[in-house]
Amino acid sequence: MKRQKTLSLDESGPNTRLAHLGHDPQDYFGFVNPPVVHASTVLFPDSRTMETRAQPYTYGTRGTPTTDALCEALNALEGAAGTILVPSGLAAITVPFLAYLSAGDHALIVDSVYSPCRQFCDTMLKRLGVEIDYYDPAIGAGIEQLIRPNTRLVHTEAPGSNTMEMQDIRAIADAAHRHDCVVTIDNTWATPLFFRALDFGADVSIHATTKYPSGHSDIVMGSVSANARHWPKLLEAQLTLGICGSPDDSYQILRGLRTMGVRLAHHQASALEIARFLEAREDVARVLHPALESFPGHAIWKRDFKGASGVFSFVLKVDAPEQFKKKAHAFLDALSFFGLGYSWGGYESLAVHVNLQDRTICKAPKEGPVIRLQIGLEDVEDLKRDLENGFAAAAAV
Ligand SMILES: *Cc1c(COP(=O)(O)O)cnc(C)c1O
Repeated sequence: MKRQKTLSLDESGPNTRLAHLGHDPQDYFGFVNPPVVHASTVLFPDSRTMETRAQPYTYGTRGTPTTDALCEALNALEGAAGTILVPSGLAAITVPFLAYLSAGDHALIVDSVYSPCRQFCDTMLKRLGVEIDYYDPAIGAGIEQLIRPNTRLVHTEAPGSNTMEMQDIRAIADAAHRHDCVVTIDNTWATPLFFRALDFGADVSIHATTKYPSGHSDIVMGSVSANARHWPKLLEAQLTLGICGSPDDSYQILRGLRTMGVRLAHHQASALEIARFLEAREDVARVLHPALESFPGHAIWKRDFKGASGVFSFVLKVDAPEQFKKKAHAFLDALSFFGLGYSWGGYESLAVHVNLQDRTICKAPKEGPVIRLQIGLEDVEDLKRDLENGFAAAAAV
């Protein structure tokens, strides 16, 4: 017998939702977490059921109770009609592009995009006959001037990778929809807790669940959530391509979601404190963090987003361009707690000297090298001491 519950998750706060979405313990003997179902074959009771596939599960690539638990949680967080799971965050970009674009189509991609997305567009999409143009993240409603009769997809990412430019998603989506384009957003930085992209007009919300949903730097996975209009094509593409998320990874991502709200609150507070600490320094030219009043996209962030996560960048002040790399490397090599590594969203702090050479519009700053920081869950005072060592080493070059 099911326990009657009077309160609904729909009207609950984000942390309550994260704690309870996706799996009802009463569905599985009361165990708090869903079972990890490893599957290829699923058996049918008789040949008629087999022929009509008239049962909830039919084959391992088409979903299991474990992947469904995660998809249900993500649907609720995103306000989506459906979610697919894919083996990486990059696949969460390439699979919807393959779903919505055909030879002869044109796509508009934000210039501050996650750079492996540009690589996919410039190589494989071009080879498949799709034309690509990159646009300024600050374009807003002006995107309409770039839309051609064959434009089918507008890809956004807010804030942009490494340089953090904000985008007016509502204005872009309204213009794109007048021309029947699908609007995709890489929403990895904000997570659905800080930006519900579908509520602002995006049709498809992409996540590297590798990042905050995982939270521990040990899973690579992606998710793509779509509204009702664009869900059927997305699901069809996933099934046609034979791309699916594994049950073990799905379990770990659902586990990560349970604590994502409290982790993000800590990442947010620490990152903002460190951003302000950096902003006050003479040896920092600029801090690229959307929640800082000084940041050009701050007004959009404040209007549309519910919070800021723990990834941002700063420009180290270096007078001579030929010294950019040397000073950046001296800074990084002096760090103890900040690891030098790609990706982010885990519990540990990371730093990287970012390469912006592939940009056509959002070019690298002239004042010095750009260093991206992921602020982890360590104590802020220790991270500040660590960064001070980096500045001292850069100054000594
Ligand atoms: C990391 C990242 C991805 C790719 O995720 P992977 O799981 O590493 O492939 C996509 N988009 C953004 C914005 C990212 O930061």
